[in-house]
Amino acid sequence: MHICIVEEGGFCFGVRRALEMAQQAIKQDDLSATLGPLIHNPQVVDQLAQQGVRVVERVAEAEPGETLMIRTHGCSPDVMQQALDRGVTVLDATCPFVARAQREAQRLCDEGWQVLILGEPEHPEARSIREHTGARATIVQGPDDLNDMQLREKVAVVCQTTQRLDHLSSLVSALLPRVRRLTVANTICDATTQRQDASVATARQVDVMIVVGGYHSANTTRLAQVCAEVNPRTHHIERAEELQPQWLEGARTVGITAGASTPDSAIEAVHERVQQLARGG
Ligand code: SF4
Repeated sequence: MHICIVEEGGFCFGVRRALEMAQQAIKQDDLSATLGPLIHNPQVVDQLAQQGVRVVERVAEAEPGETLMIRTHGCSPDVMQQALDRGVTVLDATCPFVARAQREAQRLCDEGWQVLILGEPEHPEARSIREHTGARATIVQGPDDLNDMQLREKVAVVCQTTQRLDHLSSLVSALLPRVRRLTVANTICDATTQRQDASVATARQVDVMIVVGGYHSANTTRLAQVCAEVNPRTHHIERAEELQPQWLEGARTVGITAGASTPDSAIEAVHERVQQLARGG
């Protein structure tokens, strides 16, 4: 059996940077908690817990004097202020690309544009972008959300970084006939696009495609969707043990890719398990 691992899969720049910041702070005994799971990967969160870093859901759960890490998705300016007021030190690991989307949304709102954020309403990143506009922007999931919406003359679109380019194009096409002025801040992250393109290219060529990553990871779930669109034998798993032998029946080629929050060790474990199953183990 030939196994092809997508090179662009696995940790992206923002996640790698956040984990390096966390490890550096742990070394200096200067990290108490993260605001929400640092990344959507249970193995990594478990490892941080073993190193004494807990997950809190609110700033109020951190004690004054403790250091609280903000994850790659970012947070609202209010949260930063709450931490300051409480005497909690913030270690800000907001990905620079997310920070750019936050700034763009804020700038466009300030300039009088009606800002639409293409994203998932409940996703922390989309929410953090909206919160940077003082809740003036609206999160939309796609063209269908425009149906009952009152659109103004000047409309601007900003994207959650993990959105797909074709999804953005659909929204722009639906907006064009309805507004006089349209501006688009394409804040989609290149890492996401490159990973998706390389994974889809592999998925087209192999008999079975395995996508590794947390079930709560938006970018991994989307990666599995785009692979499944070109290869119905696509499976999204979180851990190597979930791999079912029957998925590989009759397969001569297997592709493996992974979301931005998947550690190399998880990808390697899946690789080894596929090899083991190929040997009949
Ligand atoms: S996917 Fe892109 S935007 Fe998101 S954390 Fe990674 S590098 Fe940053």
